[in-house]
Amino acid sequence: MSDHPTISIVAPIYNEEDSLQELHRRISGVMEPLDLSWELVMVNDGSRDRSLELMVELHERDPEHVRIVNFARNFGHQIAVTAGMDYAQGEAVVLIDADLQDPPELIPQMIEKWREGYEVVYAVRAEREGESWLKRTLSSLFYRVLFRITEIKIPLDTGDFRLMDQRVVRAVTTMPERHRFIRGMVSWVGFRQVGIEYKRDPRFAGETKYPLRKQLRLAWDGITGFSYVPLQLATYLGFIIAAMSGLSILFVIYMRAFTDELFFEGQASTLVMVLFLGGVQLISLGVIGEYLGRIYNEVKGRPLYIVHTTRGFDDSSGHPEDQRPEHHLSLSREGSVQHD
Ligand code: UDP
Ligand code: MG
Repeated sequence: MSDHPTISIVAPIYNEEDSLQELHRRISGVMEPLDLSWELVMVNDGSRDRSLELMVELHERDPEHVRIVNFARNFGHQIAVTAGMDYAQGEAVVLIDADLQDPPELIPQMIEKWREGYEVVYAVRAEREGESWLKRTLSSLFYRVLFRITEIKIPLDTGDFRLMDQRVVRAVTTMPERHRFIRGMVSWVGFRQVGIEYKRDPRFAGETKYPLRKQLRLAWDGITGFSYVPLQLATYLGFIIAAMSGLSILFVIYMRAFTDELFFEGQASTLVMVLFLGGVQLISLGVIGEYLGRIYNEVKGRPLYIVHTTRGFDDSSGHPEDQRPEHHLSLSREGSVQHD
């Protein structure tokens, strides 16, 4: 493989042993009739099941298309996708989840839009099945809040399932931040973008790898990465509370001076106010902490990910080390990826 493929499909993989065969089967089924060259870049994000073994098997069965980037440990979904984008050589790159919640059958439509001249074709979830009510509600709320508080307009209800022109991919991979919210970063770079609607299927197999905790972290990464509004919230709240207490003071003085009524009797009201203010202050501190922690992580400047091994990339045509974005330390070497 010395020519660059037309389409690279990037799938991050974390414990997806039951989906991999089907993923490859469905992608092949969609891509073969199109009569263009393509590659499937699978990034193994530190899976602890048989995913890696199965990926190697797929590569051996279909060496022309299947390529593997094997991480040294679990670095997280957004980082795995980033690595896939670094390694992808196609003129356009498609990001897709390995659990088949994003139907590969949508790819030809994306390619068509790309050929019409759009540089980003993102898939909008018109419907989603097989996900909990809580997850759908939170997710929907999150996208709407994010839309309101950021200046760049990140499309609503849109995940990472999308096609990007190579120029967009290069733009995004040169952004060095480690708290990555890729759908936001892709909006940020601009270019001509268009959405197409689809129905999000249930998972093909296995459990979600995004428990509420990870989902919240991604949401915070999205918000802190693109907005200062949470930091300003403390200022606004401060002004509001200060104004209210100013009025209350005047009120209390008036009551004392001109009436016999004793307001704010007992300790309960005092206690409630103190607790309320304590809560507000702790939340504000926490918000500052969220930003501070992220600044600290960025400042450390560690590589985004460590590659253990790769498979299927031809070094002469692929990735001379010196062409990689400098924020990526790569320890990749060609060879067997099977552990003992
Ligand atoms: N994933 C990953 N690393 C992680 C968590 C998830 O590479 O730490 C992959 C996972 O294998 C899947 C995709 O990211 O291909 C999306 O994850 P999942 O389907 O669990 O998320 P959900 O669709 O439930 O939001
Ligand atoms: Mg999923």
